[in-house]
Amino acid sequence: MPRIVMKFGGTSMAGIERIRAVAARVKAEADAGNQVCVVVSAMAGETDRLVQFCREASSAFDPREYDVVVASGEQVTSGLLAITLQGMGLSARSWMGWQLLRTDSAHGNARIDAIDGAELDAALVGGQVAVVPGFQGISGEGRVATLGRGGSDTSAVAMAAGLNADRCDIYTDVLGVYTTDPRIVPRARLLAAVTYEEMLELASVGAKVLQTRSVGLAMREKLRLRVLSSFEDAPGTMIVPEEELAGYGMERLTVTGIAYDKNEAKITLTGVADGPGAPARVFAPLADAGVNVDVIVQNVAGADGTIDLTFTVPAAELPRALDLLERERASIGYVEVTHDSDICKVSVVGVGMRSNAGVAATMFKALGDRGIHIHAITTSEIRVSVLIPKDYTELAVRVLHTAYGLDAEDAA
Ligand code: ADP
Ligand code: ASP
Ligand code: MG
Repeated sequence: MPRIVMKFGGTSMAGIERIRAVAARVKAEADAGNQVCVVVSAMAGETDRLVQFCREASSAFDPREYDVVVASGEQVTSGLLAITLQGMGLSARSWMGWQLLRTDSAHGNARIDAIDGAELDAALVGGQVAVVPGFQGISGEGRVATLGRGGSDTSAVAMAAGLNADRCDIYTDVLGVYTTDPRIVPRARLLAAVTYEEMLELASVGAKVLQTRSVGLAMREKLRLRVLSSFEDAPGTMIVPEEELAGYGMERLTVTGIAYDKNEAKITLTGVADGPGAPARVFAPLADAGVNVDVIVQNVAGADGTIDLTFTVPAAELPRALDLLERERASIGYVEVTHDSDICKVSVVGVGMRSNAGVAATMFKALGDRGIHIHAITTSEIRVSVLIPKDYTELAVRVLHTAYGLDAEDAA
């Protein structure tokens, strides 16, 4: 009997009417002869609300207690879905994260270590629908832990891998994965398929339709992962290995997708004494403190033998990073530190870039023609990213979408 994991996001779970619609989809899959494990998110807006409570309670909250608070949203929706399924005549029950999913101790952004799926497995074999809260697990110390924002996607993929499911369907509030966020570019095109590698890169630079870790895990486990709408009956987007793309009739474009991330901040250190160890003196203390540094630009040394270093950190980490740099001022040796949070990272991604020159040039020209200033540039084998002023985000994404020929011809 096929076994599937169905994951429903916050918009799909927002209120009893929507939970009823979710239950109907679950019932249809169970009636079709599948063993079904459902992973649910908190109701839309609920996690934001809970995070805000923690911030109001204390500016320096204990991350273990933060997890106790924010994990509660998924507990509510799990129970409500199980009740609704039972009301439809199905055998169904909920489990909580502590019964199933073991994590490390990085509270607020924990990684999954193992799935304890034996009891749930037996329930599925016995014909029961299993409802599992996304986002939450239990640390080695026995404390509730959460997997980072958007983490229910990763819970779903981990459950699918741990239960040896035949596929994992991620139901959300759009029809699937588009060439860019359809909420800011109405001409964005729905992709029938996208490679694991491209999806991983798109997610890591801001396309929040799937949490980055969920894609990495699905890729390693060779899991059949699909993104589709919980409101319309449509096939959605398959995430596939590169060699399977052709099977979906996908035209090979140089750029597959465009993503943006407004949650970064730029730091510039001027007058850093140059020499082989200069960048290490700056970045080692940040790395030791677990601050993730992304885009890095180092200027050539001036006549006075000093360099300027510009780099980005997650906006939420900016105060901590500035604090660290101030404390290490003497050992690093710099003149001034400045910062800017009004920036956005816009990225174009595509496996076709490997065999096509000129992708970056097209990007710079398209942005330049619109008078959009580029602060910094970074590339990978299948991605080019630029830092631009935040106010220009929407314009930049639209302009690039057109420049790379991604606009859907028939869209409004
Ligand atoms: P869920 O609550 O179902 O997990 P999310 O809000 O986390 O939903 O993710 C879905 C949202 O991701 C969409 O509503 C859309 O605005 C956004 N998004 C960003 N980039 C893309 C993209 N390339 N394709 C589809 N959706 C995208
Ligand atoms: N509810 C959590 C969040 O909003 C997890 C998720 O929905 O994926 O981040
Ligand atoms: Mg999500």
